Amino acid sequence: MDFGLSEEQQLIVRTVRDFVEKELYPLEPEVERTGIVRPEVGKDIQRKVQKLGFYAPNMPAEYGGGGLDRVTFTLLERELGRASMALGVFWGRPSEILSACNDEQKERYLFPSIRGEKIDALAMSEPDAGSDVRGMTCTARPDGDDWIINGTKHFISHADVADFMIVFIATGEEQSKHGPKKRITGFLIDRGTPGMEVQPGYRSVSHRGYHNCILAFDNCRVSSKQILGAEGSGFDELNTWLRGTRLTVAATCVGRARRAIDLALRHAAERKQFGQQIGKFQGVSFQLADMQVEVDAADYLMLAAAWALENERPDANRLISEAKLFASEMLARVTDRAIQIFGGMGLMDELPLERLWRDARVERIWDGTSEIQRHIISRDLLRPLGA
Ligand SMILES: Cc1cc2nc3c(=O)[nH]c(=O)nc-3n(C[C@H](O)[C@H](O)[C@H](O)COP(=O)(O)OP(=O)(O)OC[C@H]3O[C@@H](n4cnc5c(N)ncnc54)[C@H](O)[C@@H]3O)c2cc1C
Repeated sequence: MDFGLSEEQQLIVRTVRDFVEKELYPLEPEVERTGIVRPEVGKDIQRKVQKLGFYAPNMPAEYGGGGLDRVTFTLLERELGRASMALGVFWGRPSEILSACNDEQKERYLFPSIRGEKIDALAMSEPDAGSDVRGMTCTARPDGDDWIINGTKHFISHADVADFMIVFIATGEEQSKHGPKKRITGFLIDRGTPGMEVQPGYRSVSHRGYHNCILAFDNCRVSSKQILGAEGSGFDELNTWLRGTRLTVAATCVGRARRAIDLALRHAAERKQFGQQIGKFQGVSFQLADMQVEVDAADYLMLAAAWALENERPDANRLISEAKLFASEMLARVTDRAIQIFGGMGLMDELPLERLWRDARVERIWDGTSEIQRHIISRDLLRPLGA
């Protein structure tokens, strides 16, 4: 087994980290202070990433994307994860679920997303349907060749800057061996479609400037041509997509934890108390050692999961859940310890640490809570034993 990165992967890691440190870090204080990314700043990031040749790195090369394999893309996400997510969103990584587009939809949604002309947001969660996605009550009923949508989606990330939404909606019910279950269908819906209102969401402690929104549907009429994939195939599409996004969560957690450790290490080497560097106190140095062990473990788990997904291994799902669970919980511990090593200054917004610590909290919740990841992992272990 080769644990080393190829030359190309090392170059990508260096290039992304360099960009993040030079171009994104200086913008972070303004985003934290104002809670917004000015539109011209977002456009500027897009332009620079395109010039770098790294826009839509997860999309197939024959469509104009970067065509990165899963492991390399995960490394890119790890480095990008060091920076504020509100800024990172402008480094376009179109939702991979768009690969289900038909030819007409590719022209209208996928290709413009790859060219940086459109940004997508994805909506499945509802006020009464979070972990239990199938419990959704947002429905679409057929009307001739159209569908009429009613209901509410909430917590929809960056819908305020998105040009179109990929929305998952119940389009009926079908029988399964466990009883009736909802048929879920994905729809591509343009911003400005009458009957769909994008409303401001809630103020979150994590990721300032990366807003969540409410989508309110009131007799919103969309054509059957807006269905992504086939009617009723949305649940499978969602589950496939969630594997990639959970891996991304793991990767960004590793990137942010490494940034926190870099800061803590420098501080431990520079700060003096009782006449010596605090890193010389075992109470501090052992904390640094434990932080490093945790982040390395998460990094290798993340890479193993990415490799398993790339190679469609049967254990890919479980490994991705393990990586998401471990990396998100690791980030909470590492950022907390890093603040402890800084003492009082760790809590002040002069440094990015308090932000990394706040941002860490959501990672255990979105894209499937820690409990849901434990459920997936334990089901995978117990099912073969008939339990
Ligand atoms: C900032 C933010 C941005 C988001 N962005 C998006 C987005 O862009 N698009 C989108 O569709 N969604 C988005 N979400 C929604 C996110 O995916 C959900 O919050 C998450 O899936 C959990 O759902 P919930 O918050 O309704 O909690 P609930 O599902 O109500 O869970 C509450 C608690 O019960 C536990 N629980 C639930 N079921 C089980 C079970 N079977 N076993 C054990 N414990 C269980 C949970 O683990 C949790 O601790 C976002 C959320 C946040 C906070």
